[in-house]
Amino acid sequence: MRAQRPTATPDTHVRVRGAREHNLKDVDLDIPRDALVVFSGVSGSGKSSLAFGTIYAEAQRRYLESVAPYARRLIDQAGVPDVDSIEGLPPAVALQQQRGTPSVRSSVGSVTTLSSLVRMLYSRAGTYPAKQPMLYAEDFSPNTAQGACTHCHGLGHVFEVTEASMVPDPSLSIRGKAIAAWPPAWHGQNLRDILVTLGYDVDVPWRDLPKKDRDWILFTDEQPVAPVYPGFTPKETRAALRRKEEPAYMGTFMGARKYVLHTFATTQSATMKKRVARYMVGSVCPVCEGKRLKREALSVTFAGLDIAELTALSLDRMAETLQPAVDGRSRKLSDDKRLAAQRLAQDLVERIGTLQALGLGYLAMDRATPTLSPGELQRLRLATQLRSHLFGVIYVLDEPTAGLHPADSEALHHALDQLRAAGNSIFVVEHDLEMMRRADWLVDVGPDAGQHGGRVLYSGPPAGLREVTQSRTARYLFDRETQAPRTRRKPTQWLALEHVSRNNLHALDARFPLGAFTAVTGVSGSGKSSLVSQALVDLVCAHLGTAPEADEQESDVPTVVVQTSGRIASGADAIRRLVNVDQKPIGRTPRSNLATYTGLFDHVRKLFAATKAAKARHYDAGRFSFNVAKGRCETCEGEGFVMVELLFLPSVFTPCPTCHGARYNAKTLEIQWQGKNIADVLGMTVEEALAFFADEAALQRPLHLLHAIGLGYLRLGQPATELSGGEAQRIKLATELQRSHRGDTLYVLDEPTTGLHPADVDRLMVQLHELVDAGNTVIVVEHEMRVVADADWVIDVGPGAGDAGGKIVAAGTPEQVARTKGSRTSSYLRKTMD
Ligand code: ADP
Ligand code: ADP
Ligand code: ZN
Ligand code: ZN
Repeated sequence: MRAQRPTATPDTHVRVRGAREHNLKDVDLDIPRDALVVFSGVSGSGKSSLAFGTIYAEAQRRYLESVAPYARRLIDQAGVPDVDSIEGLPPAVALQQQRGTPSVRSSVGSVTTLSSLVRMLYSRAGTYPAKQPMLYAEDFSPNTAQGACTHCHGLGHVFEVTEASMVPDPSLSIRGKAIAAWPPAWHGQNLRDILVTLGYDVDVPWRDLPKKDRDWILFTDEQPVAPVYPGFTPKETRAALRRKEEPAYMGTFMGARKYVLHTFATTQSATMKKRVARYMVGSVCPVCEGKRLKREALSVTFAGLDIAELTALSLDRMAETLQPAVDGRSRKLSDDKRLAAQRLAQDLVERIGTLQALGLGYLAMDRATPTLSPGELQRLRLATQLRSHLFGVIYVLDEPTAGLHPADSEALHHALDQLRAAGNSIFVVEHDLEMMRRADWLVDVGPDAGQHGGRVLYSGPPAGLREVTQSRTARYLFDRETQAPRTRRKPTQWLALEHVSRNNLHALDARFPLGAFTAVTGVSGSGKSSLVSQALVDLVCAHLGTAPEADEQESDVPTVVVQTSGRIASGADAIRRLVNVDQKPIGRTPRSNLATYTGLFDHVRKLFAATKAAKARHYDAGRFSFNVAKGRCETCEGEGFVMVELLFLPSVFTPCPTCHGARYNAKTLEIQWQGKNIADVLGMTVEEALAFFADEAALQRPLHLLHAIGLGYLRLGQPATELSGGEAQRIKLATELQRSHRGDTLYVLDEPTTGLHPADVDRLMVQLHELVDAGNTVIVVEHEMRVVADADWVIDVGPGAGDAGGKIVAAGTPEQVARTKGSRTSSYLRKTMD
């Protein structure tokens, strides 16, 4: 190792000795404190294992130990980082990008704690109607019983069922399962048989039944009890009734609406709840008009707005609205109210200022966190930290530039500078070259991924990395790797959208070249995702007659669909298929993983079932699934770990005491294929599996694609919950690539370079260009200027964020856009292309 200070004194450096977490190769490292330190290296090289898995984990462990000594044993089980010693380690705060979905009820206001201030403002300094007593701050929260609208319980929406939602295909008969909302299996047949007894025709198409009958079947609250003759035809049933034949049983009928609403309200089963939620449609609550609060709370105003109206403004507009109160100019208020207003408004405006400085002024306080990108969420948390006035802390961040246009990154750099100036250390895992150039100290990990990485190639001021020939980073940081100018593809046909409205897009016209690679750029919040991932995807799906991929597992609350308006003017006929490769998790439980998602595990299980030993014991492929009872470990039911509840602390997962994480029972593990059992295979990285299954053609293709796309370091059994959004996206892409391409497919990707080292970006680009060469269309939302410069066509959305954006500022080849005045992208693009 070079540039290491052997004489470091304890307080100026964090000194790591013998770090071996994951792939780290007994790493020794001295990192200066009170500095901006960037950890660089290709994906899977070990950056996170060092910054998060070792340094942050150890700081966290020491903290837990100091607050809860009794929990020691459990903390140990939960994982002590594999490191000999770390000296000079201050407390650490991690600002990691969220994996999985945050709670539906949290919002920009709650994450930033602005909500509680605003409630206080309305409680203490709001204008009340005559004779209405003052309310407490909690009365302004829709999440409390005191505050919530009593009609919608604070949801803002009421959920109802309609004929269309419960009977999606009216050409079917009741026997043909027209009433999709009915319970499945026996229960559904029972309802049908009762209808037969009651004299309804269950064999004509639903739409041919009289309206009166359709309404009764769906919406009645009556619950008649009728004799049931299962297995009888309607004719036989009528005869049996006439004969007063003894029925098999007496059945109780229930209207479909009653069934759906009752099940939704009372079921304990998450699956049932999700099933019925599909038939419910949300509409704005008529009582609170979607504002979620009880009437008394909504009658209190500030600056002429009720609290829901104020928090629906963008933070920029909200700060403007509060400014008169800060200046003591709120005329209508009594003296003591004016003082309270001034103090609270001042605090709010300052906090909003921090968010604005991070380029988040276009967000509104009432925006639900699940609709934010992980990068936006991380910056919200960062802003909250900026105001916490902590010092002497290490902040560990994970790709804070994700989702940021280069113009937005300025604000981020400034925020990090501020944290450091306050006496903190900033450790950042990052791929952004600009962030590396600005760092005080660079730790380059590598040279490659997994077992070919895990060494510190360099630790010192950025300039010194130039000499390190082994480093993949050095090439991009210093040589400014010039791309061979590609011949741009000439689009033959265009997909033209007209009058698109969605979020901040208003009656926008846009056209995308077909058979080409298009990059859509613009500052954060300008409307790129609204245009591409939402409007374009919705309109093309509607044209193809496919539903946009529903977030089936996302929540058990019926979703309120935001509508895109607009139409496709031309070009749609040239698209036969749409694939939206997004960053949503590939599964929400540790039961889905890389191997199950890509389908390659099916083949692996067949290999095991085909071994002599397995055949002798009559083990089929199902035996080798950790989701099936016969083969899996019974203690953990195939999860590999068990959850331990800690008093006052978040619960921790610890490896299963029976199978020690193997997930299978001992009998299953006795079966080997080429000397490895099924758990060993799940523990292999993609790269190891490539070598191990060298003769298995069916496995080579998916494994090879995963490797080509930079995922060679992932383990086959890596649970979906451990994957980052970018990794999930690349797994989806690899799964897609392994299908045979017919061409005429439209691929949409939102920021596919997230989490990728420039060297990995190059590999990804090769794959995407191959798709286009095969006759497909690729449209990416992207900030990485090297990718934009490599596109056939660029569409720059903006010029600003939120209301200040939503227009197309420039469209053309990269050369043309680089020369467009008024585009905030052009100067950065020019720099990359020179
Ligand atoms: P980077 O941050 O550079 O992308 P990581 O530190 O995440 O790399 O990963 C380094 C290596 O450690 C990879 O081979 C990865 O598969 C492995 N790894 C990461 N997380 C785990 C884990 N929880 N268990 C076992 N191996 C892991
Ligand atoms: P970009 O992709 O360029 O960062 P977006 O399309 O995400 O921008 O956002 C454009 C505008 O639309 C912003 O003002 C943003 O706050 C708003 N917006 C985006 N998604 C939603 C949503 N689900 N609900 C409400 N507003 C949204
Ligand atoms: Zn309501
Ligand atoms: Zn187990």
